[in-house]
Amino acid sequence: MEPANQADSPKQHAPQAQPLAGQHALVTGGNRGIGAAIAEELVRLGVNLTLAARDRESLNRRRERLSQIGPSAISTQVMDLTDPESIAQSHKAARDDLGPITILINNAGVAPSAPLGKLELKSWKETFAINVQAAFLLSQAVLPGMQDKGFGRIVNIASTAGLRGYPFVAGYVASKHALVGLTRAMALELAKAPITVNAVCPGYTETEIALNAIANIQKSGKTEAEARAILTRSNPQGRLVQPEEVAATVAWLCLPSSCAVTGQSVAVAGGEVM
Ligand code: NDP
Repeated sequence: MEPANQADSPKQHAPQAQPLAGQHALVTGGNRGIGAAIAEELVRLGVNLTLAARDRESLNRRRERLSQIGPSAISTQVMDLTDPESIAQSHKAARDDLGPITILINNAGVAPSAPLGKLELKSWKETFAINVQAAFLLSQAVLPGMQDKGFGRIVNIASTAGLRGYPFVAGYVASKHALVGLTRAMALELAKAPITVNAVCPGYTETEIALNAIANIQKSGKTEAEARAILTRSNPQGRLVQPEEVAATVAWLCLPSSCAVTGQSVAVAGGEVM
């Protein structure tokens, strides 16, 4: 079957060192953790990059580090994903700086934990605002530019919590299931655009989120090693996933040659879900 649009045809893309040169990628939460690893991988593939998060200093530090990798233009935007106005303004500033965004990585997320009876509505709403609503708003904002360019990649960083349940993180699990649902609906709606929309679903990954979870478990009197063992026992490989492993999957989904892969939820979790 022929690809929907010749601009996105795999036949036109011989392997090259920087297959994403000329694309403009926006990575939310690109200042640290998984987002920073994704940003680094995308810069290696040649993108011009916008990093967005709330903390200006860590954004600037990350830009310094990334600028040593290659000649990509790198912009930073302070963006509060709980605030639709902040999203709209920062998106406009990013587009004015480096042109329309053709690769959107909805990576930023929060994972508050509490037993169901103690989970506050404020926390539930904030989790949904950052983990789902922001992905929806940013996707809506970038679509016209992707459609004009005839190329678009949206990758939503969900979680194995988007594919199965876990106790004590009901808001997080519900929001990540919603993000997977949004991914599937958008993939179908945009299939002929041609814009691909996929979710990447990491298992516990060695970043602040996982380290906080280890610290929380330690509060119940466990040692660091015991807490780590509890966190890693859901992963058949018995270890935390590394941010670079998630980034490699995201980068693959962004390649022009991945144009037939859309609507998928790719687990990077050592076999935890299958
Ligand atoms: P971190 O806690 O290390 O980083 C979270 C990122 O989100 C930061 O860059 C933070 O930047 C940004 N962020 C948080 N709140 C906001 C906000 N209101 N507005 C803008 N940015 C915000 O997380 P990870 O790197 O571990 O996680 C990245 C993604 O991967 C998340 O969606 C997470 O759910 C998912 N994931 C993580 C797993 C793990 O075990 N680590 C497992 C499965 C999925 P700043 O504070 O500067 O705003």
